[in-house]
Amino acid sequence: MSLICCPISVEGAAEIPLALERAARARVLGARMVEWRCDGLASRESADAAAAIARLVRESPLPSIVTVRSADEGGTASLAESERLALLARVAKAADAPRMIDVEHAAIAAELPRALLAAAVAPRDEDAAPKIVASAHDFTGRPVDLLRRAAAMQDDPLVSVVKLAWMARSIRDNLEAFDLLATRTKPMIALLMGEFGLMSRVLAPKFGGFLTFASDAEGTGTAPGQPTARELRDLYRFGAIGPATRVFGVVGWPVGHSRSPAFHNARFAEAGYDGVYLPLPVPAEWEHFKASLGALVDHERLDFAGASVTIPHKEHLVRFVRERGGELDADAAWLGAANTLVVHPHGTPDGQRLVATNTDMPAAVEVLAAALATRGRALKGARIAVIGAGGVARAVAGGLALAGATVVVFNREHARAASLAEQLTGREVVLADGSAHRTKVVAGAAATSDPRGEDALACGCFHAFVNCTPVGMAGGPDPTGSPLPDEVHLDDSVVVMDTVYTPRETPLIREARARGAVTVDGEAMFERQAALQSALFLARW
Ligand code: NAP
Repeated sequence: MSLICCPISVEGAAEIPLALERAARARVLGARMVEWRCDGLASRESADAAAAIARLVRESPLPSIVTVRSADEGGTASLAESERLALLARVAKAADAPRMIDVEHAAIAAELPRALLAAAVAPRDEDAAPKIVASAHDFTGRPVDLLRRAAAMQDDPLVSVVKLAWMARSIRDNLEAFDLLATRTKPMIALLMGEFGLMSRVLAPKFGGFLTFASDAEGTGTAPGQPTARELRDLYRFGAIGPATRVFGVVGWPVGHSRSPAFHNARFAEAGYDGVYLPLPVPAEWEHFKASLGALVDHERLDFAGASVTIPHKEHLVRFVRERGGELDADAAWLGAANTLVVHPHGTPDGQRLVATNTDMPAAVEVLAAALATRGRALKGARIAVIGAGGVARAVAGGLALAGATVVVFNREHARAASLAEQLTGREVVLADGSAHRTKVVAGAAATSDPRGEDALACGCFHAFVNCTPVGMAGGPDPTGSPLPDEVHLDDSVVVMDTVYTPRETPLIREARARGAVTVDGEAMFERQAALQSALFLARW
């Protein structure tokens, strides 16, 4: 079982009472170890540092690791190297010795500090002597000698626990940490730093990592990308993750805004399903998507079981599944965009089967139809402006056109709107009332055309507007902007829908409400598409 360990930095002896309170809170949050980061304490209280550290260890509500990190490996200790190692040896020899001391493996390569620390942690009669966590950090990327270093650390008889931490450059780097853990010969901590490294931290129990570090509160982390203990316990259900846990996630760029991890992890908990759902940041280009998703799907021990796919990768998912010989449901194939991937591990005689679906389409149609109905209007015969021509716009425009609406698509890059319109026009369908219908999607006027022209946004001829761009999204390219120009006339017969759901009240929703329109925020569509997706993830069970 992997432990949660909260690192707590102590800058001086005066901070000890507060630090002990923080450790007590961390214990309530599920931490089972505390790492006392004494870089500051050791530098400022050099005369009494050993006594101050002994007090921390003695009064700690959790078993302790003591660390005095050198600047070379990301710490702030300003002591001379010989003093730093002598202090660690004193701490290890004290009557109130910690469970473990962390020392950089590079620092114990030399003969003298090695002998000093070996003596300090030698077996003794009374209390158990501390064990050495040998660590190696790289804040720039994967160390070139990672495997050689891991082997040397494991072979070193002085080392009880091996800790390797490096900066992830893509989510693929996590897989190498999992492979290292799978072949370990000693207890090991293999963690990746930065926004791409979260997976290695959350999935430590799946691969037998000795512990994972988590901050006791937002903003108190000691390494980039560290989650909070509360997130590990409540959002990711860290205690329930084991070797057979299936892994899901939301693939997007940006992805930090996504509510999908909260939604799907809660559904897994309710259903008693052994799965965990993570944010999976993948940069915008096709090559990144193909390489990252391919590596997740192909990894033998990851049990990657499915994904939600969001901005800007919905069209990439269709291409990926086609290239891999997977299945697209009929709507996703027609739309050219999908937002759900389910991986069936033994779905074909040759191995796994990939299935992509689009749950945005039925969700968007349902919520917009309900809003129009409040004004006595059906989708059949309605004239609707869709702003944006990306993955969500395809689902929204296609779904509304299939339901009998005439859809006009506006995009800053006009050619993309024209190609979408051409692709989604002319499909023959039978509407709910039994009448025959051909889908009709047209490209709106280019931004440079007459703003009040027949096919312009401000023509006064639309019953509804749907924003399918990230304009207004927190963390997006234009968080304070609105995609609807001021000259567009709005009144209480017009529906304005935003697909953006963070924040719930976007500038578009606020302005449209102020101008009297019926508004539909992105939350309703999000909840609906996510519920449909959850049913697909759980049906695979
Ligand atoms: P996408 O495939 O990348 O498409 C983005 C579209 O927005 C493109 O048409 C792009 O225009 C346009 N765009 C981007 N930045 C713009 C800007 N600054 N000004 C004007 N237009 C801009 O993304 P997507 O997957 O369709 O996602 C779009 C939005 O839908 C996201 O913000 C996401 O939050 C939201 N969404 C909501 C739900 C929900 O359930 N409520 C589900 C999924 C997504 P170009 O073609 O000119 O680049």
